[in-house]
Amino acid sequence: MIAGIDLGTTNSLIGVYESGFPTLLADPDGNRLTPSVVHYMADGSILVGREARRMQGLHPDRTISSVKRLIGGRFGDKGTEGLIGAKGSPVTLPIDGKKLTPEEVSSEILKRLKTIAEDRLGTQVNRAVITVPAYFNDAQRAATKKAGELAGFTVERILSEPTAAALAYGLDKLSDRSKVAVYDLGGGTFDLSILQLDNGVFEVLSTHGETRLGGDDLDEAIAELLARKAGIDSFTPGTDARLKEAAREAKERLSTEESLTLRLPFLTGGKSLEIPITRAEMEMVCEPIIRRTRAHCLRSLEDAGLNATDLDQIILVGGSTRMPLVRRLVQEIFGREPNLSQHPDEAVALGAILQGAILEGNLRNIALLDVTPLSLGIETFGGLMNVIIPRNTTIPAKAGEMFTNAVAGQSGMTITILQGEREMAADNWKLGSLDIPFPPSPKGAARVGVQFSLDADGILQVLARDTAAGTEKIMEIRSAVEVSDEAVEAMLAGSLEHAFEDMDARIFTEARLKAEEMLPAVEAALAQLGSELPGDEIAEIHKQTTEVTSALQAKETTRLKQALSTLDQATQTLATRLMERAMG
Ligand code: ADP
Ligand code: MG
Repeated sequence: MIAGIDLGTTNSLIGVYESGFPTLLADPDGNRLTPSVVHYMADGSILVGREARRMQGLHPDRTISSVKRLIGGRFGDKGTEGLIGAKGSPVTLPIDGKKLTPEEVSSEILKRLKTIAEDRLGTQVNRAVITVPAYFNDAQRAATKKAGELAGFTVERILSEPTAAALAYGLDKLSDRSKVAVYDLGGGTFDLSILQLDNGVFEVLSTHGETRLGGDDLDEAIAELLARKAGIDSFTPGTDARLKEAAREAKERLSTEESLTLRLPFLTGGKSLEIPITRAEMEMVCEPIIRRTRAHCLRSLEDAGLNATDLDQIILVGGSTRMPLVRRLVQEIFGREPNLSQHPDEAVALGAILQGAILEGNLRNIALLDVTPLSLGIETFGGLMNVIIPRNTTIPAKAGEMFTNAVAGQSGMTITILQGEREMAADNWKLGSLDIPFPPSPKGAARVGVQFSLDADGILQVLARDTAAGTEKIMEIRSAVEVSDEAVEAMLAGSLEHAFEDMDARIFTEARLKAEEMLPAVEAALAQLGSELPGDEIAEIHKQTTEVTSALQAKETTRLKQALSTLDQATQTLATRLMERAMG
């Protein structure tokens, strides 16, 4: 089993591909997000995640957060300010006089994720796909891989975060050369990547961002606002940490609530505080920070040589994009609504899981899980829809049927390929048609086999063969499965709405076909054998044929069916005589 891991600056996640679905795994408390924080206790034990984050305020010197900023880095790089070391030498972090590398610290987070997964699954999880930002260089990717190995994983692939997110949003199903913008605003970093789909693989066209721009900056600005509102002006480090914690809570809740009151017991000098705050107030202080993302978006577009209108989709990644303000700004920057179909803070991990499944060869399962959104069939006599592959069949799928000619002397047949749920061919969508010729034959003598095969990519191949002559025609239809959800919904709604009329139309058509077959047959039989039948029987047959004819003209389904059944009975003797004659 290959696990997918989002090793984030702020939060990390792990999941696996399980019975056909990418599944994120939660710790025993039900949390799928593990804070990327590691705390080294004096006794040598190590805390990771929420417990470590709780220790941060008390023991900042023993707690490491945002280690991702340092991974694969050297002294003098951004983020190493305040650390000691010779310029250009690899970064190490001193804890209790021991020097730890960022890979070692990261590996503690990965070990924790591994334990979460193994506890949940009850089996070992030894292989992983780990994501990194698109802008990570080779050294940073190699260091991430090393961290994975230190945690006991075989790292099967290092995957770019925007690519993972695009996979999770299902964008690999877009048409070739589609262009996607991935707007990722997490806890401490922002990046905007533009991807292009090239033969089913995402290529990063450009990426820009800031490694010091994210939710942490918002928390800081909101904490200042809270302090102002509460009239606090002298800070202790403890107060500062608690205010930031309160700011984060307020920020996250204000993504869905309009206003709230924060209660901070014993914040300063035994004083408890209650601070009311509204979303509008919060947005005032956050907007200038979030506006900074605009320039990066524009630069990424420019580097990719694109206009915003060239983009096929804009997707949101990172917990901070849950903020309504961020969504509004993204819409303003790109002039269109972002795709909101996935949880932004889980998308990268989901994509990593999917990539793992692809590497395992399990993606066949994904293909198998794909189903036909609508029924596929052909038009038959009387303009009816004859379903060959029903709606919701898992693909790949193959099915066929044998057809014959309805009319004597017919030379050839047109196979009209249809998609939809309506009973009458004309109400469904026509996907194509092909002509299959055969020598003029008596009614019902021709044999044309029609086979539909739908492959895992959703490509429909229709084969029609005249079995006598062996002539065959093949047609390929690529659009059979890629139908928009709206269109499918409209078709299904239509089929429900018209279910009764449709059924009536089908029953009438079937009755009509039967009548059209029976009337001339009865007439022919009467001409041949009428003299042998008693007069009242002949009169009854005539009465019923007239009734069938007028029911047909009046298009009355029930009456027609009734008349046909009476005619059937009235012609019993006639039919038997005819049979005897034929047998000699
Ligand atoms: P990273 O990629 O940096 O590891 P995440 O994508 O998990 O981070 O994002 C974490 C950030 O998202 C934090 O700053 C957190 O406060 C913020 N966040 C999470 N949920 C919400 C929410 N509902 N509203 C606003 N911000 C949120
Ligand atoms: Mg992230």
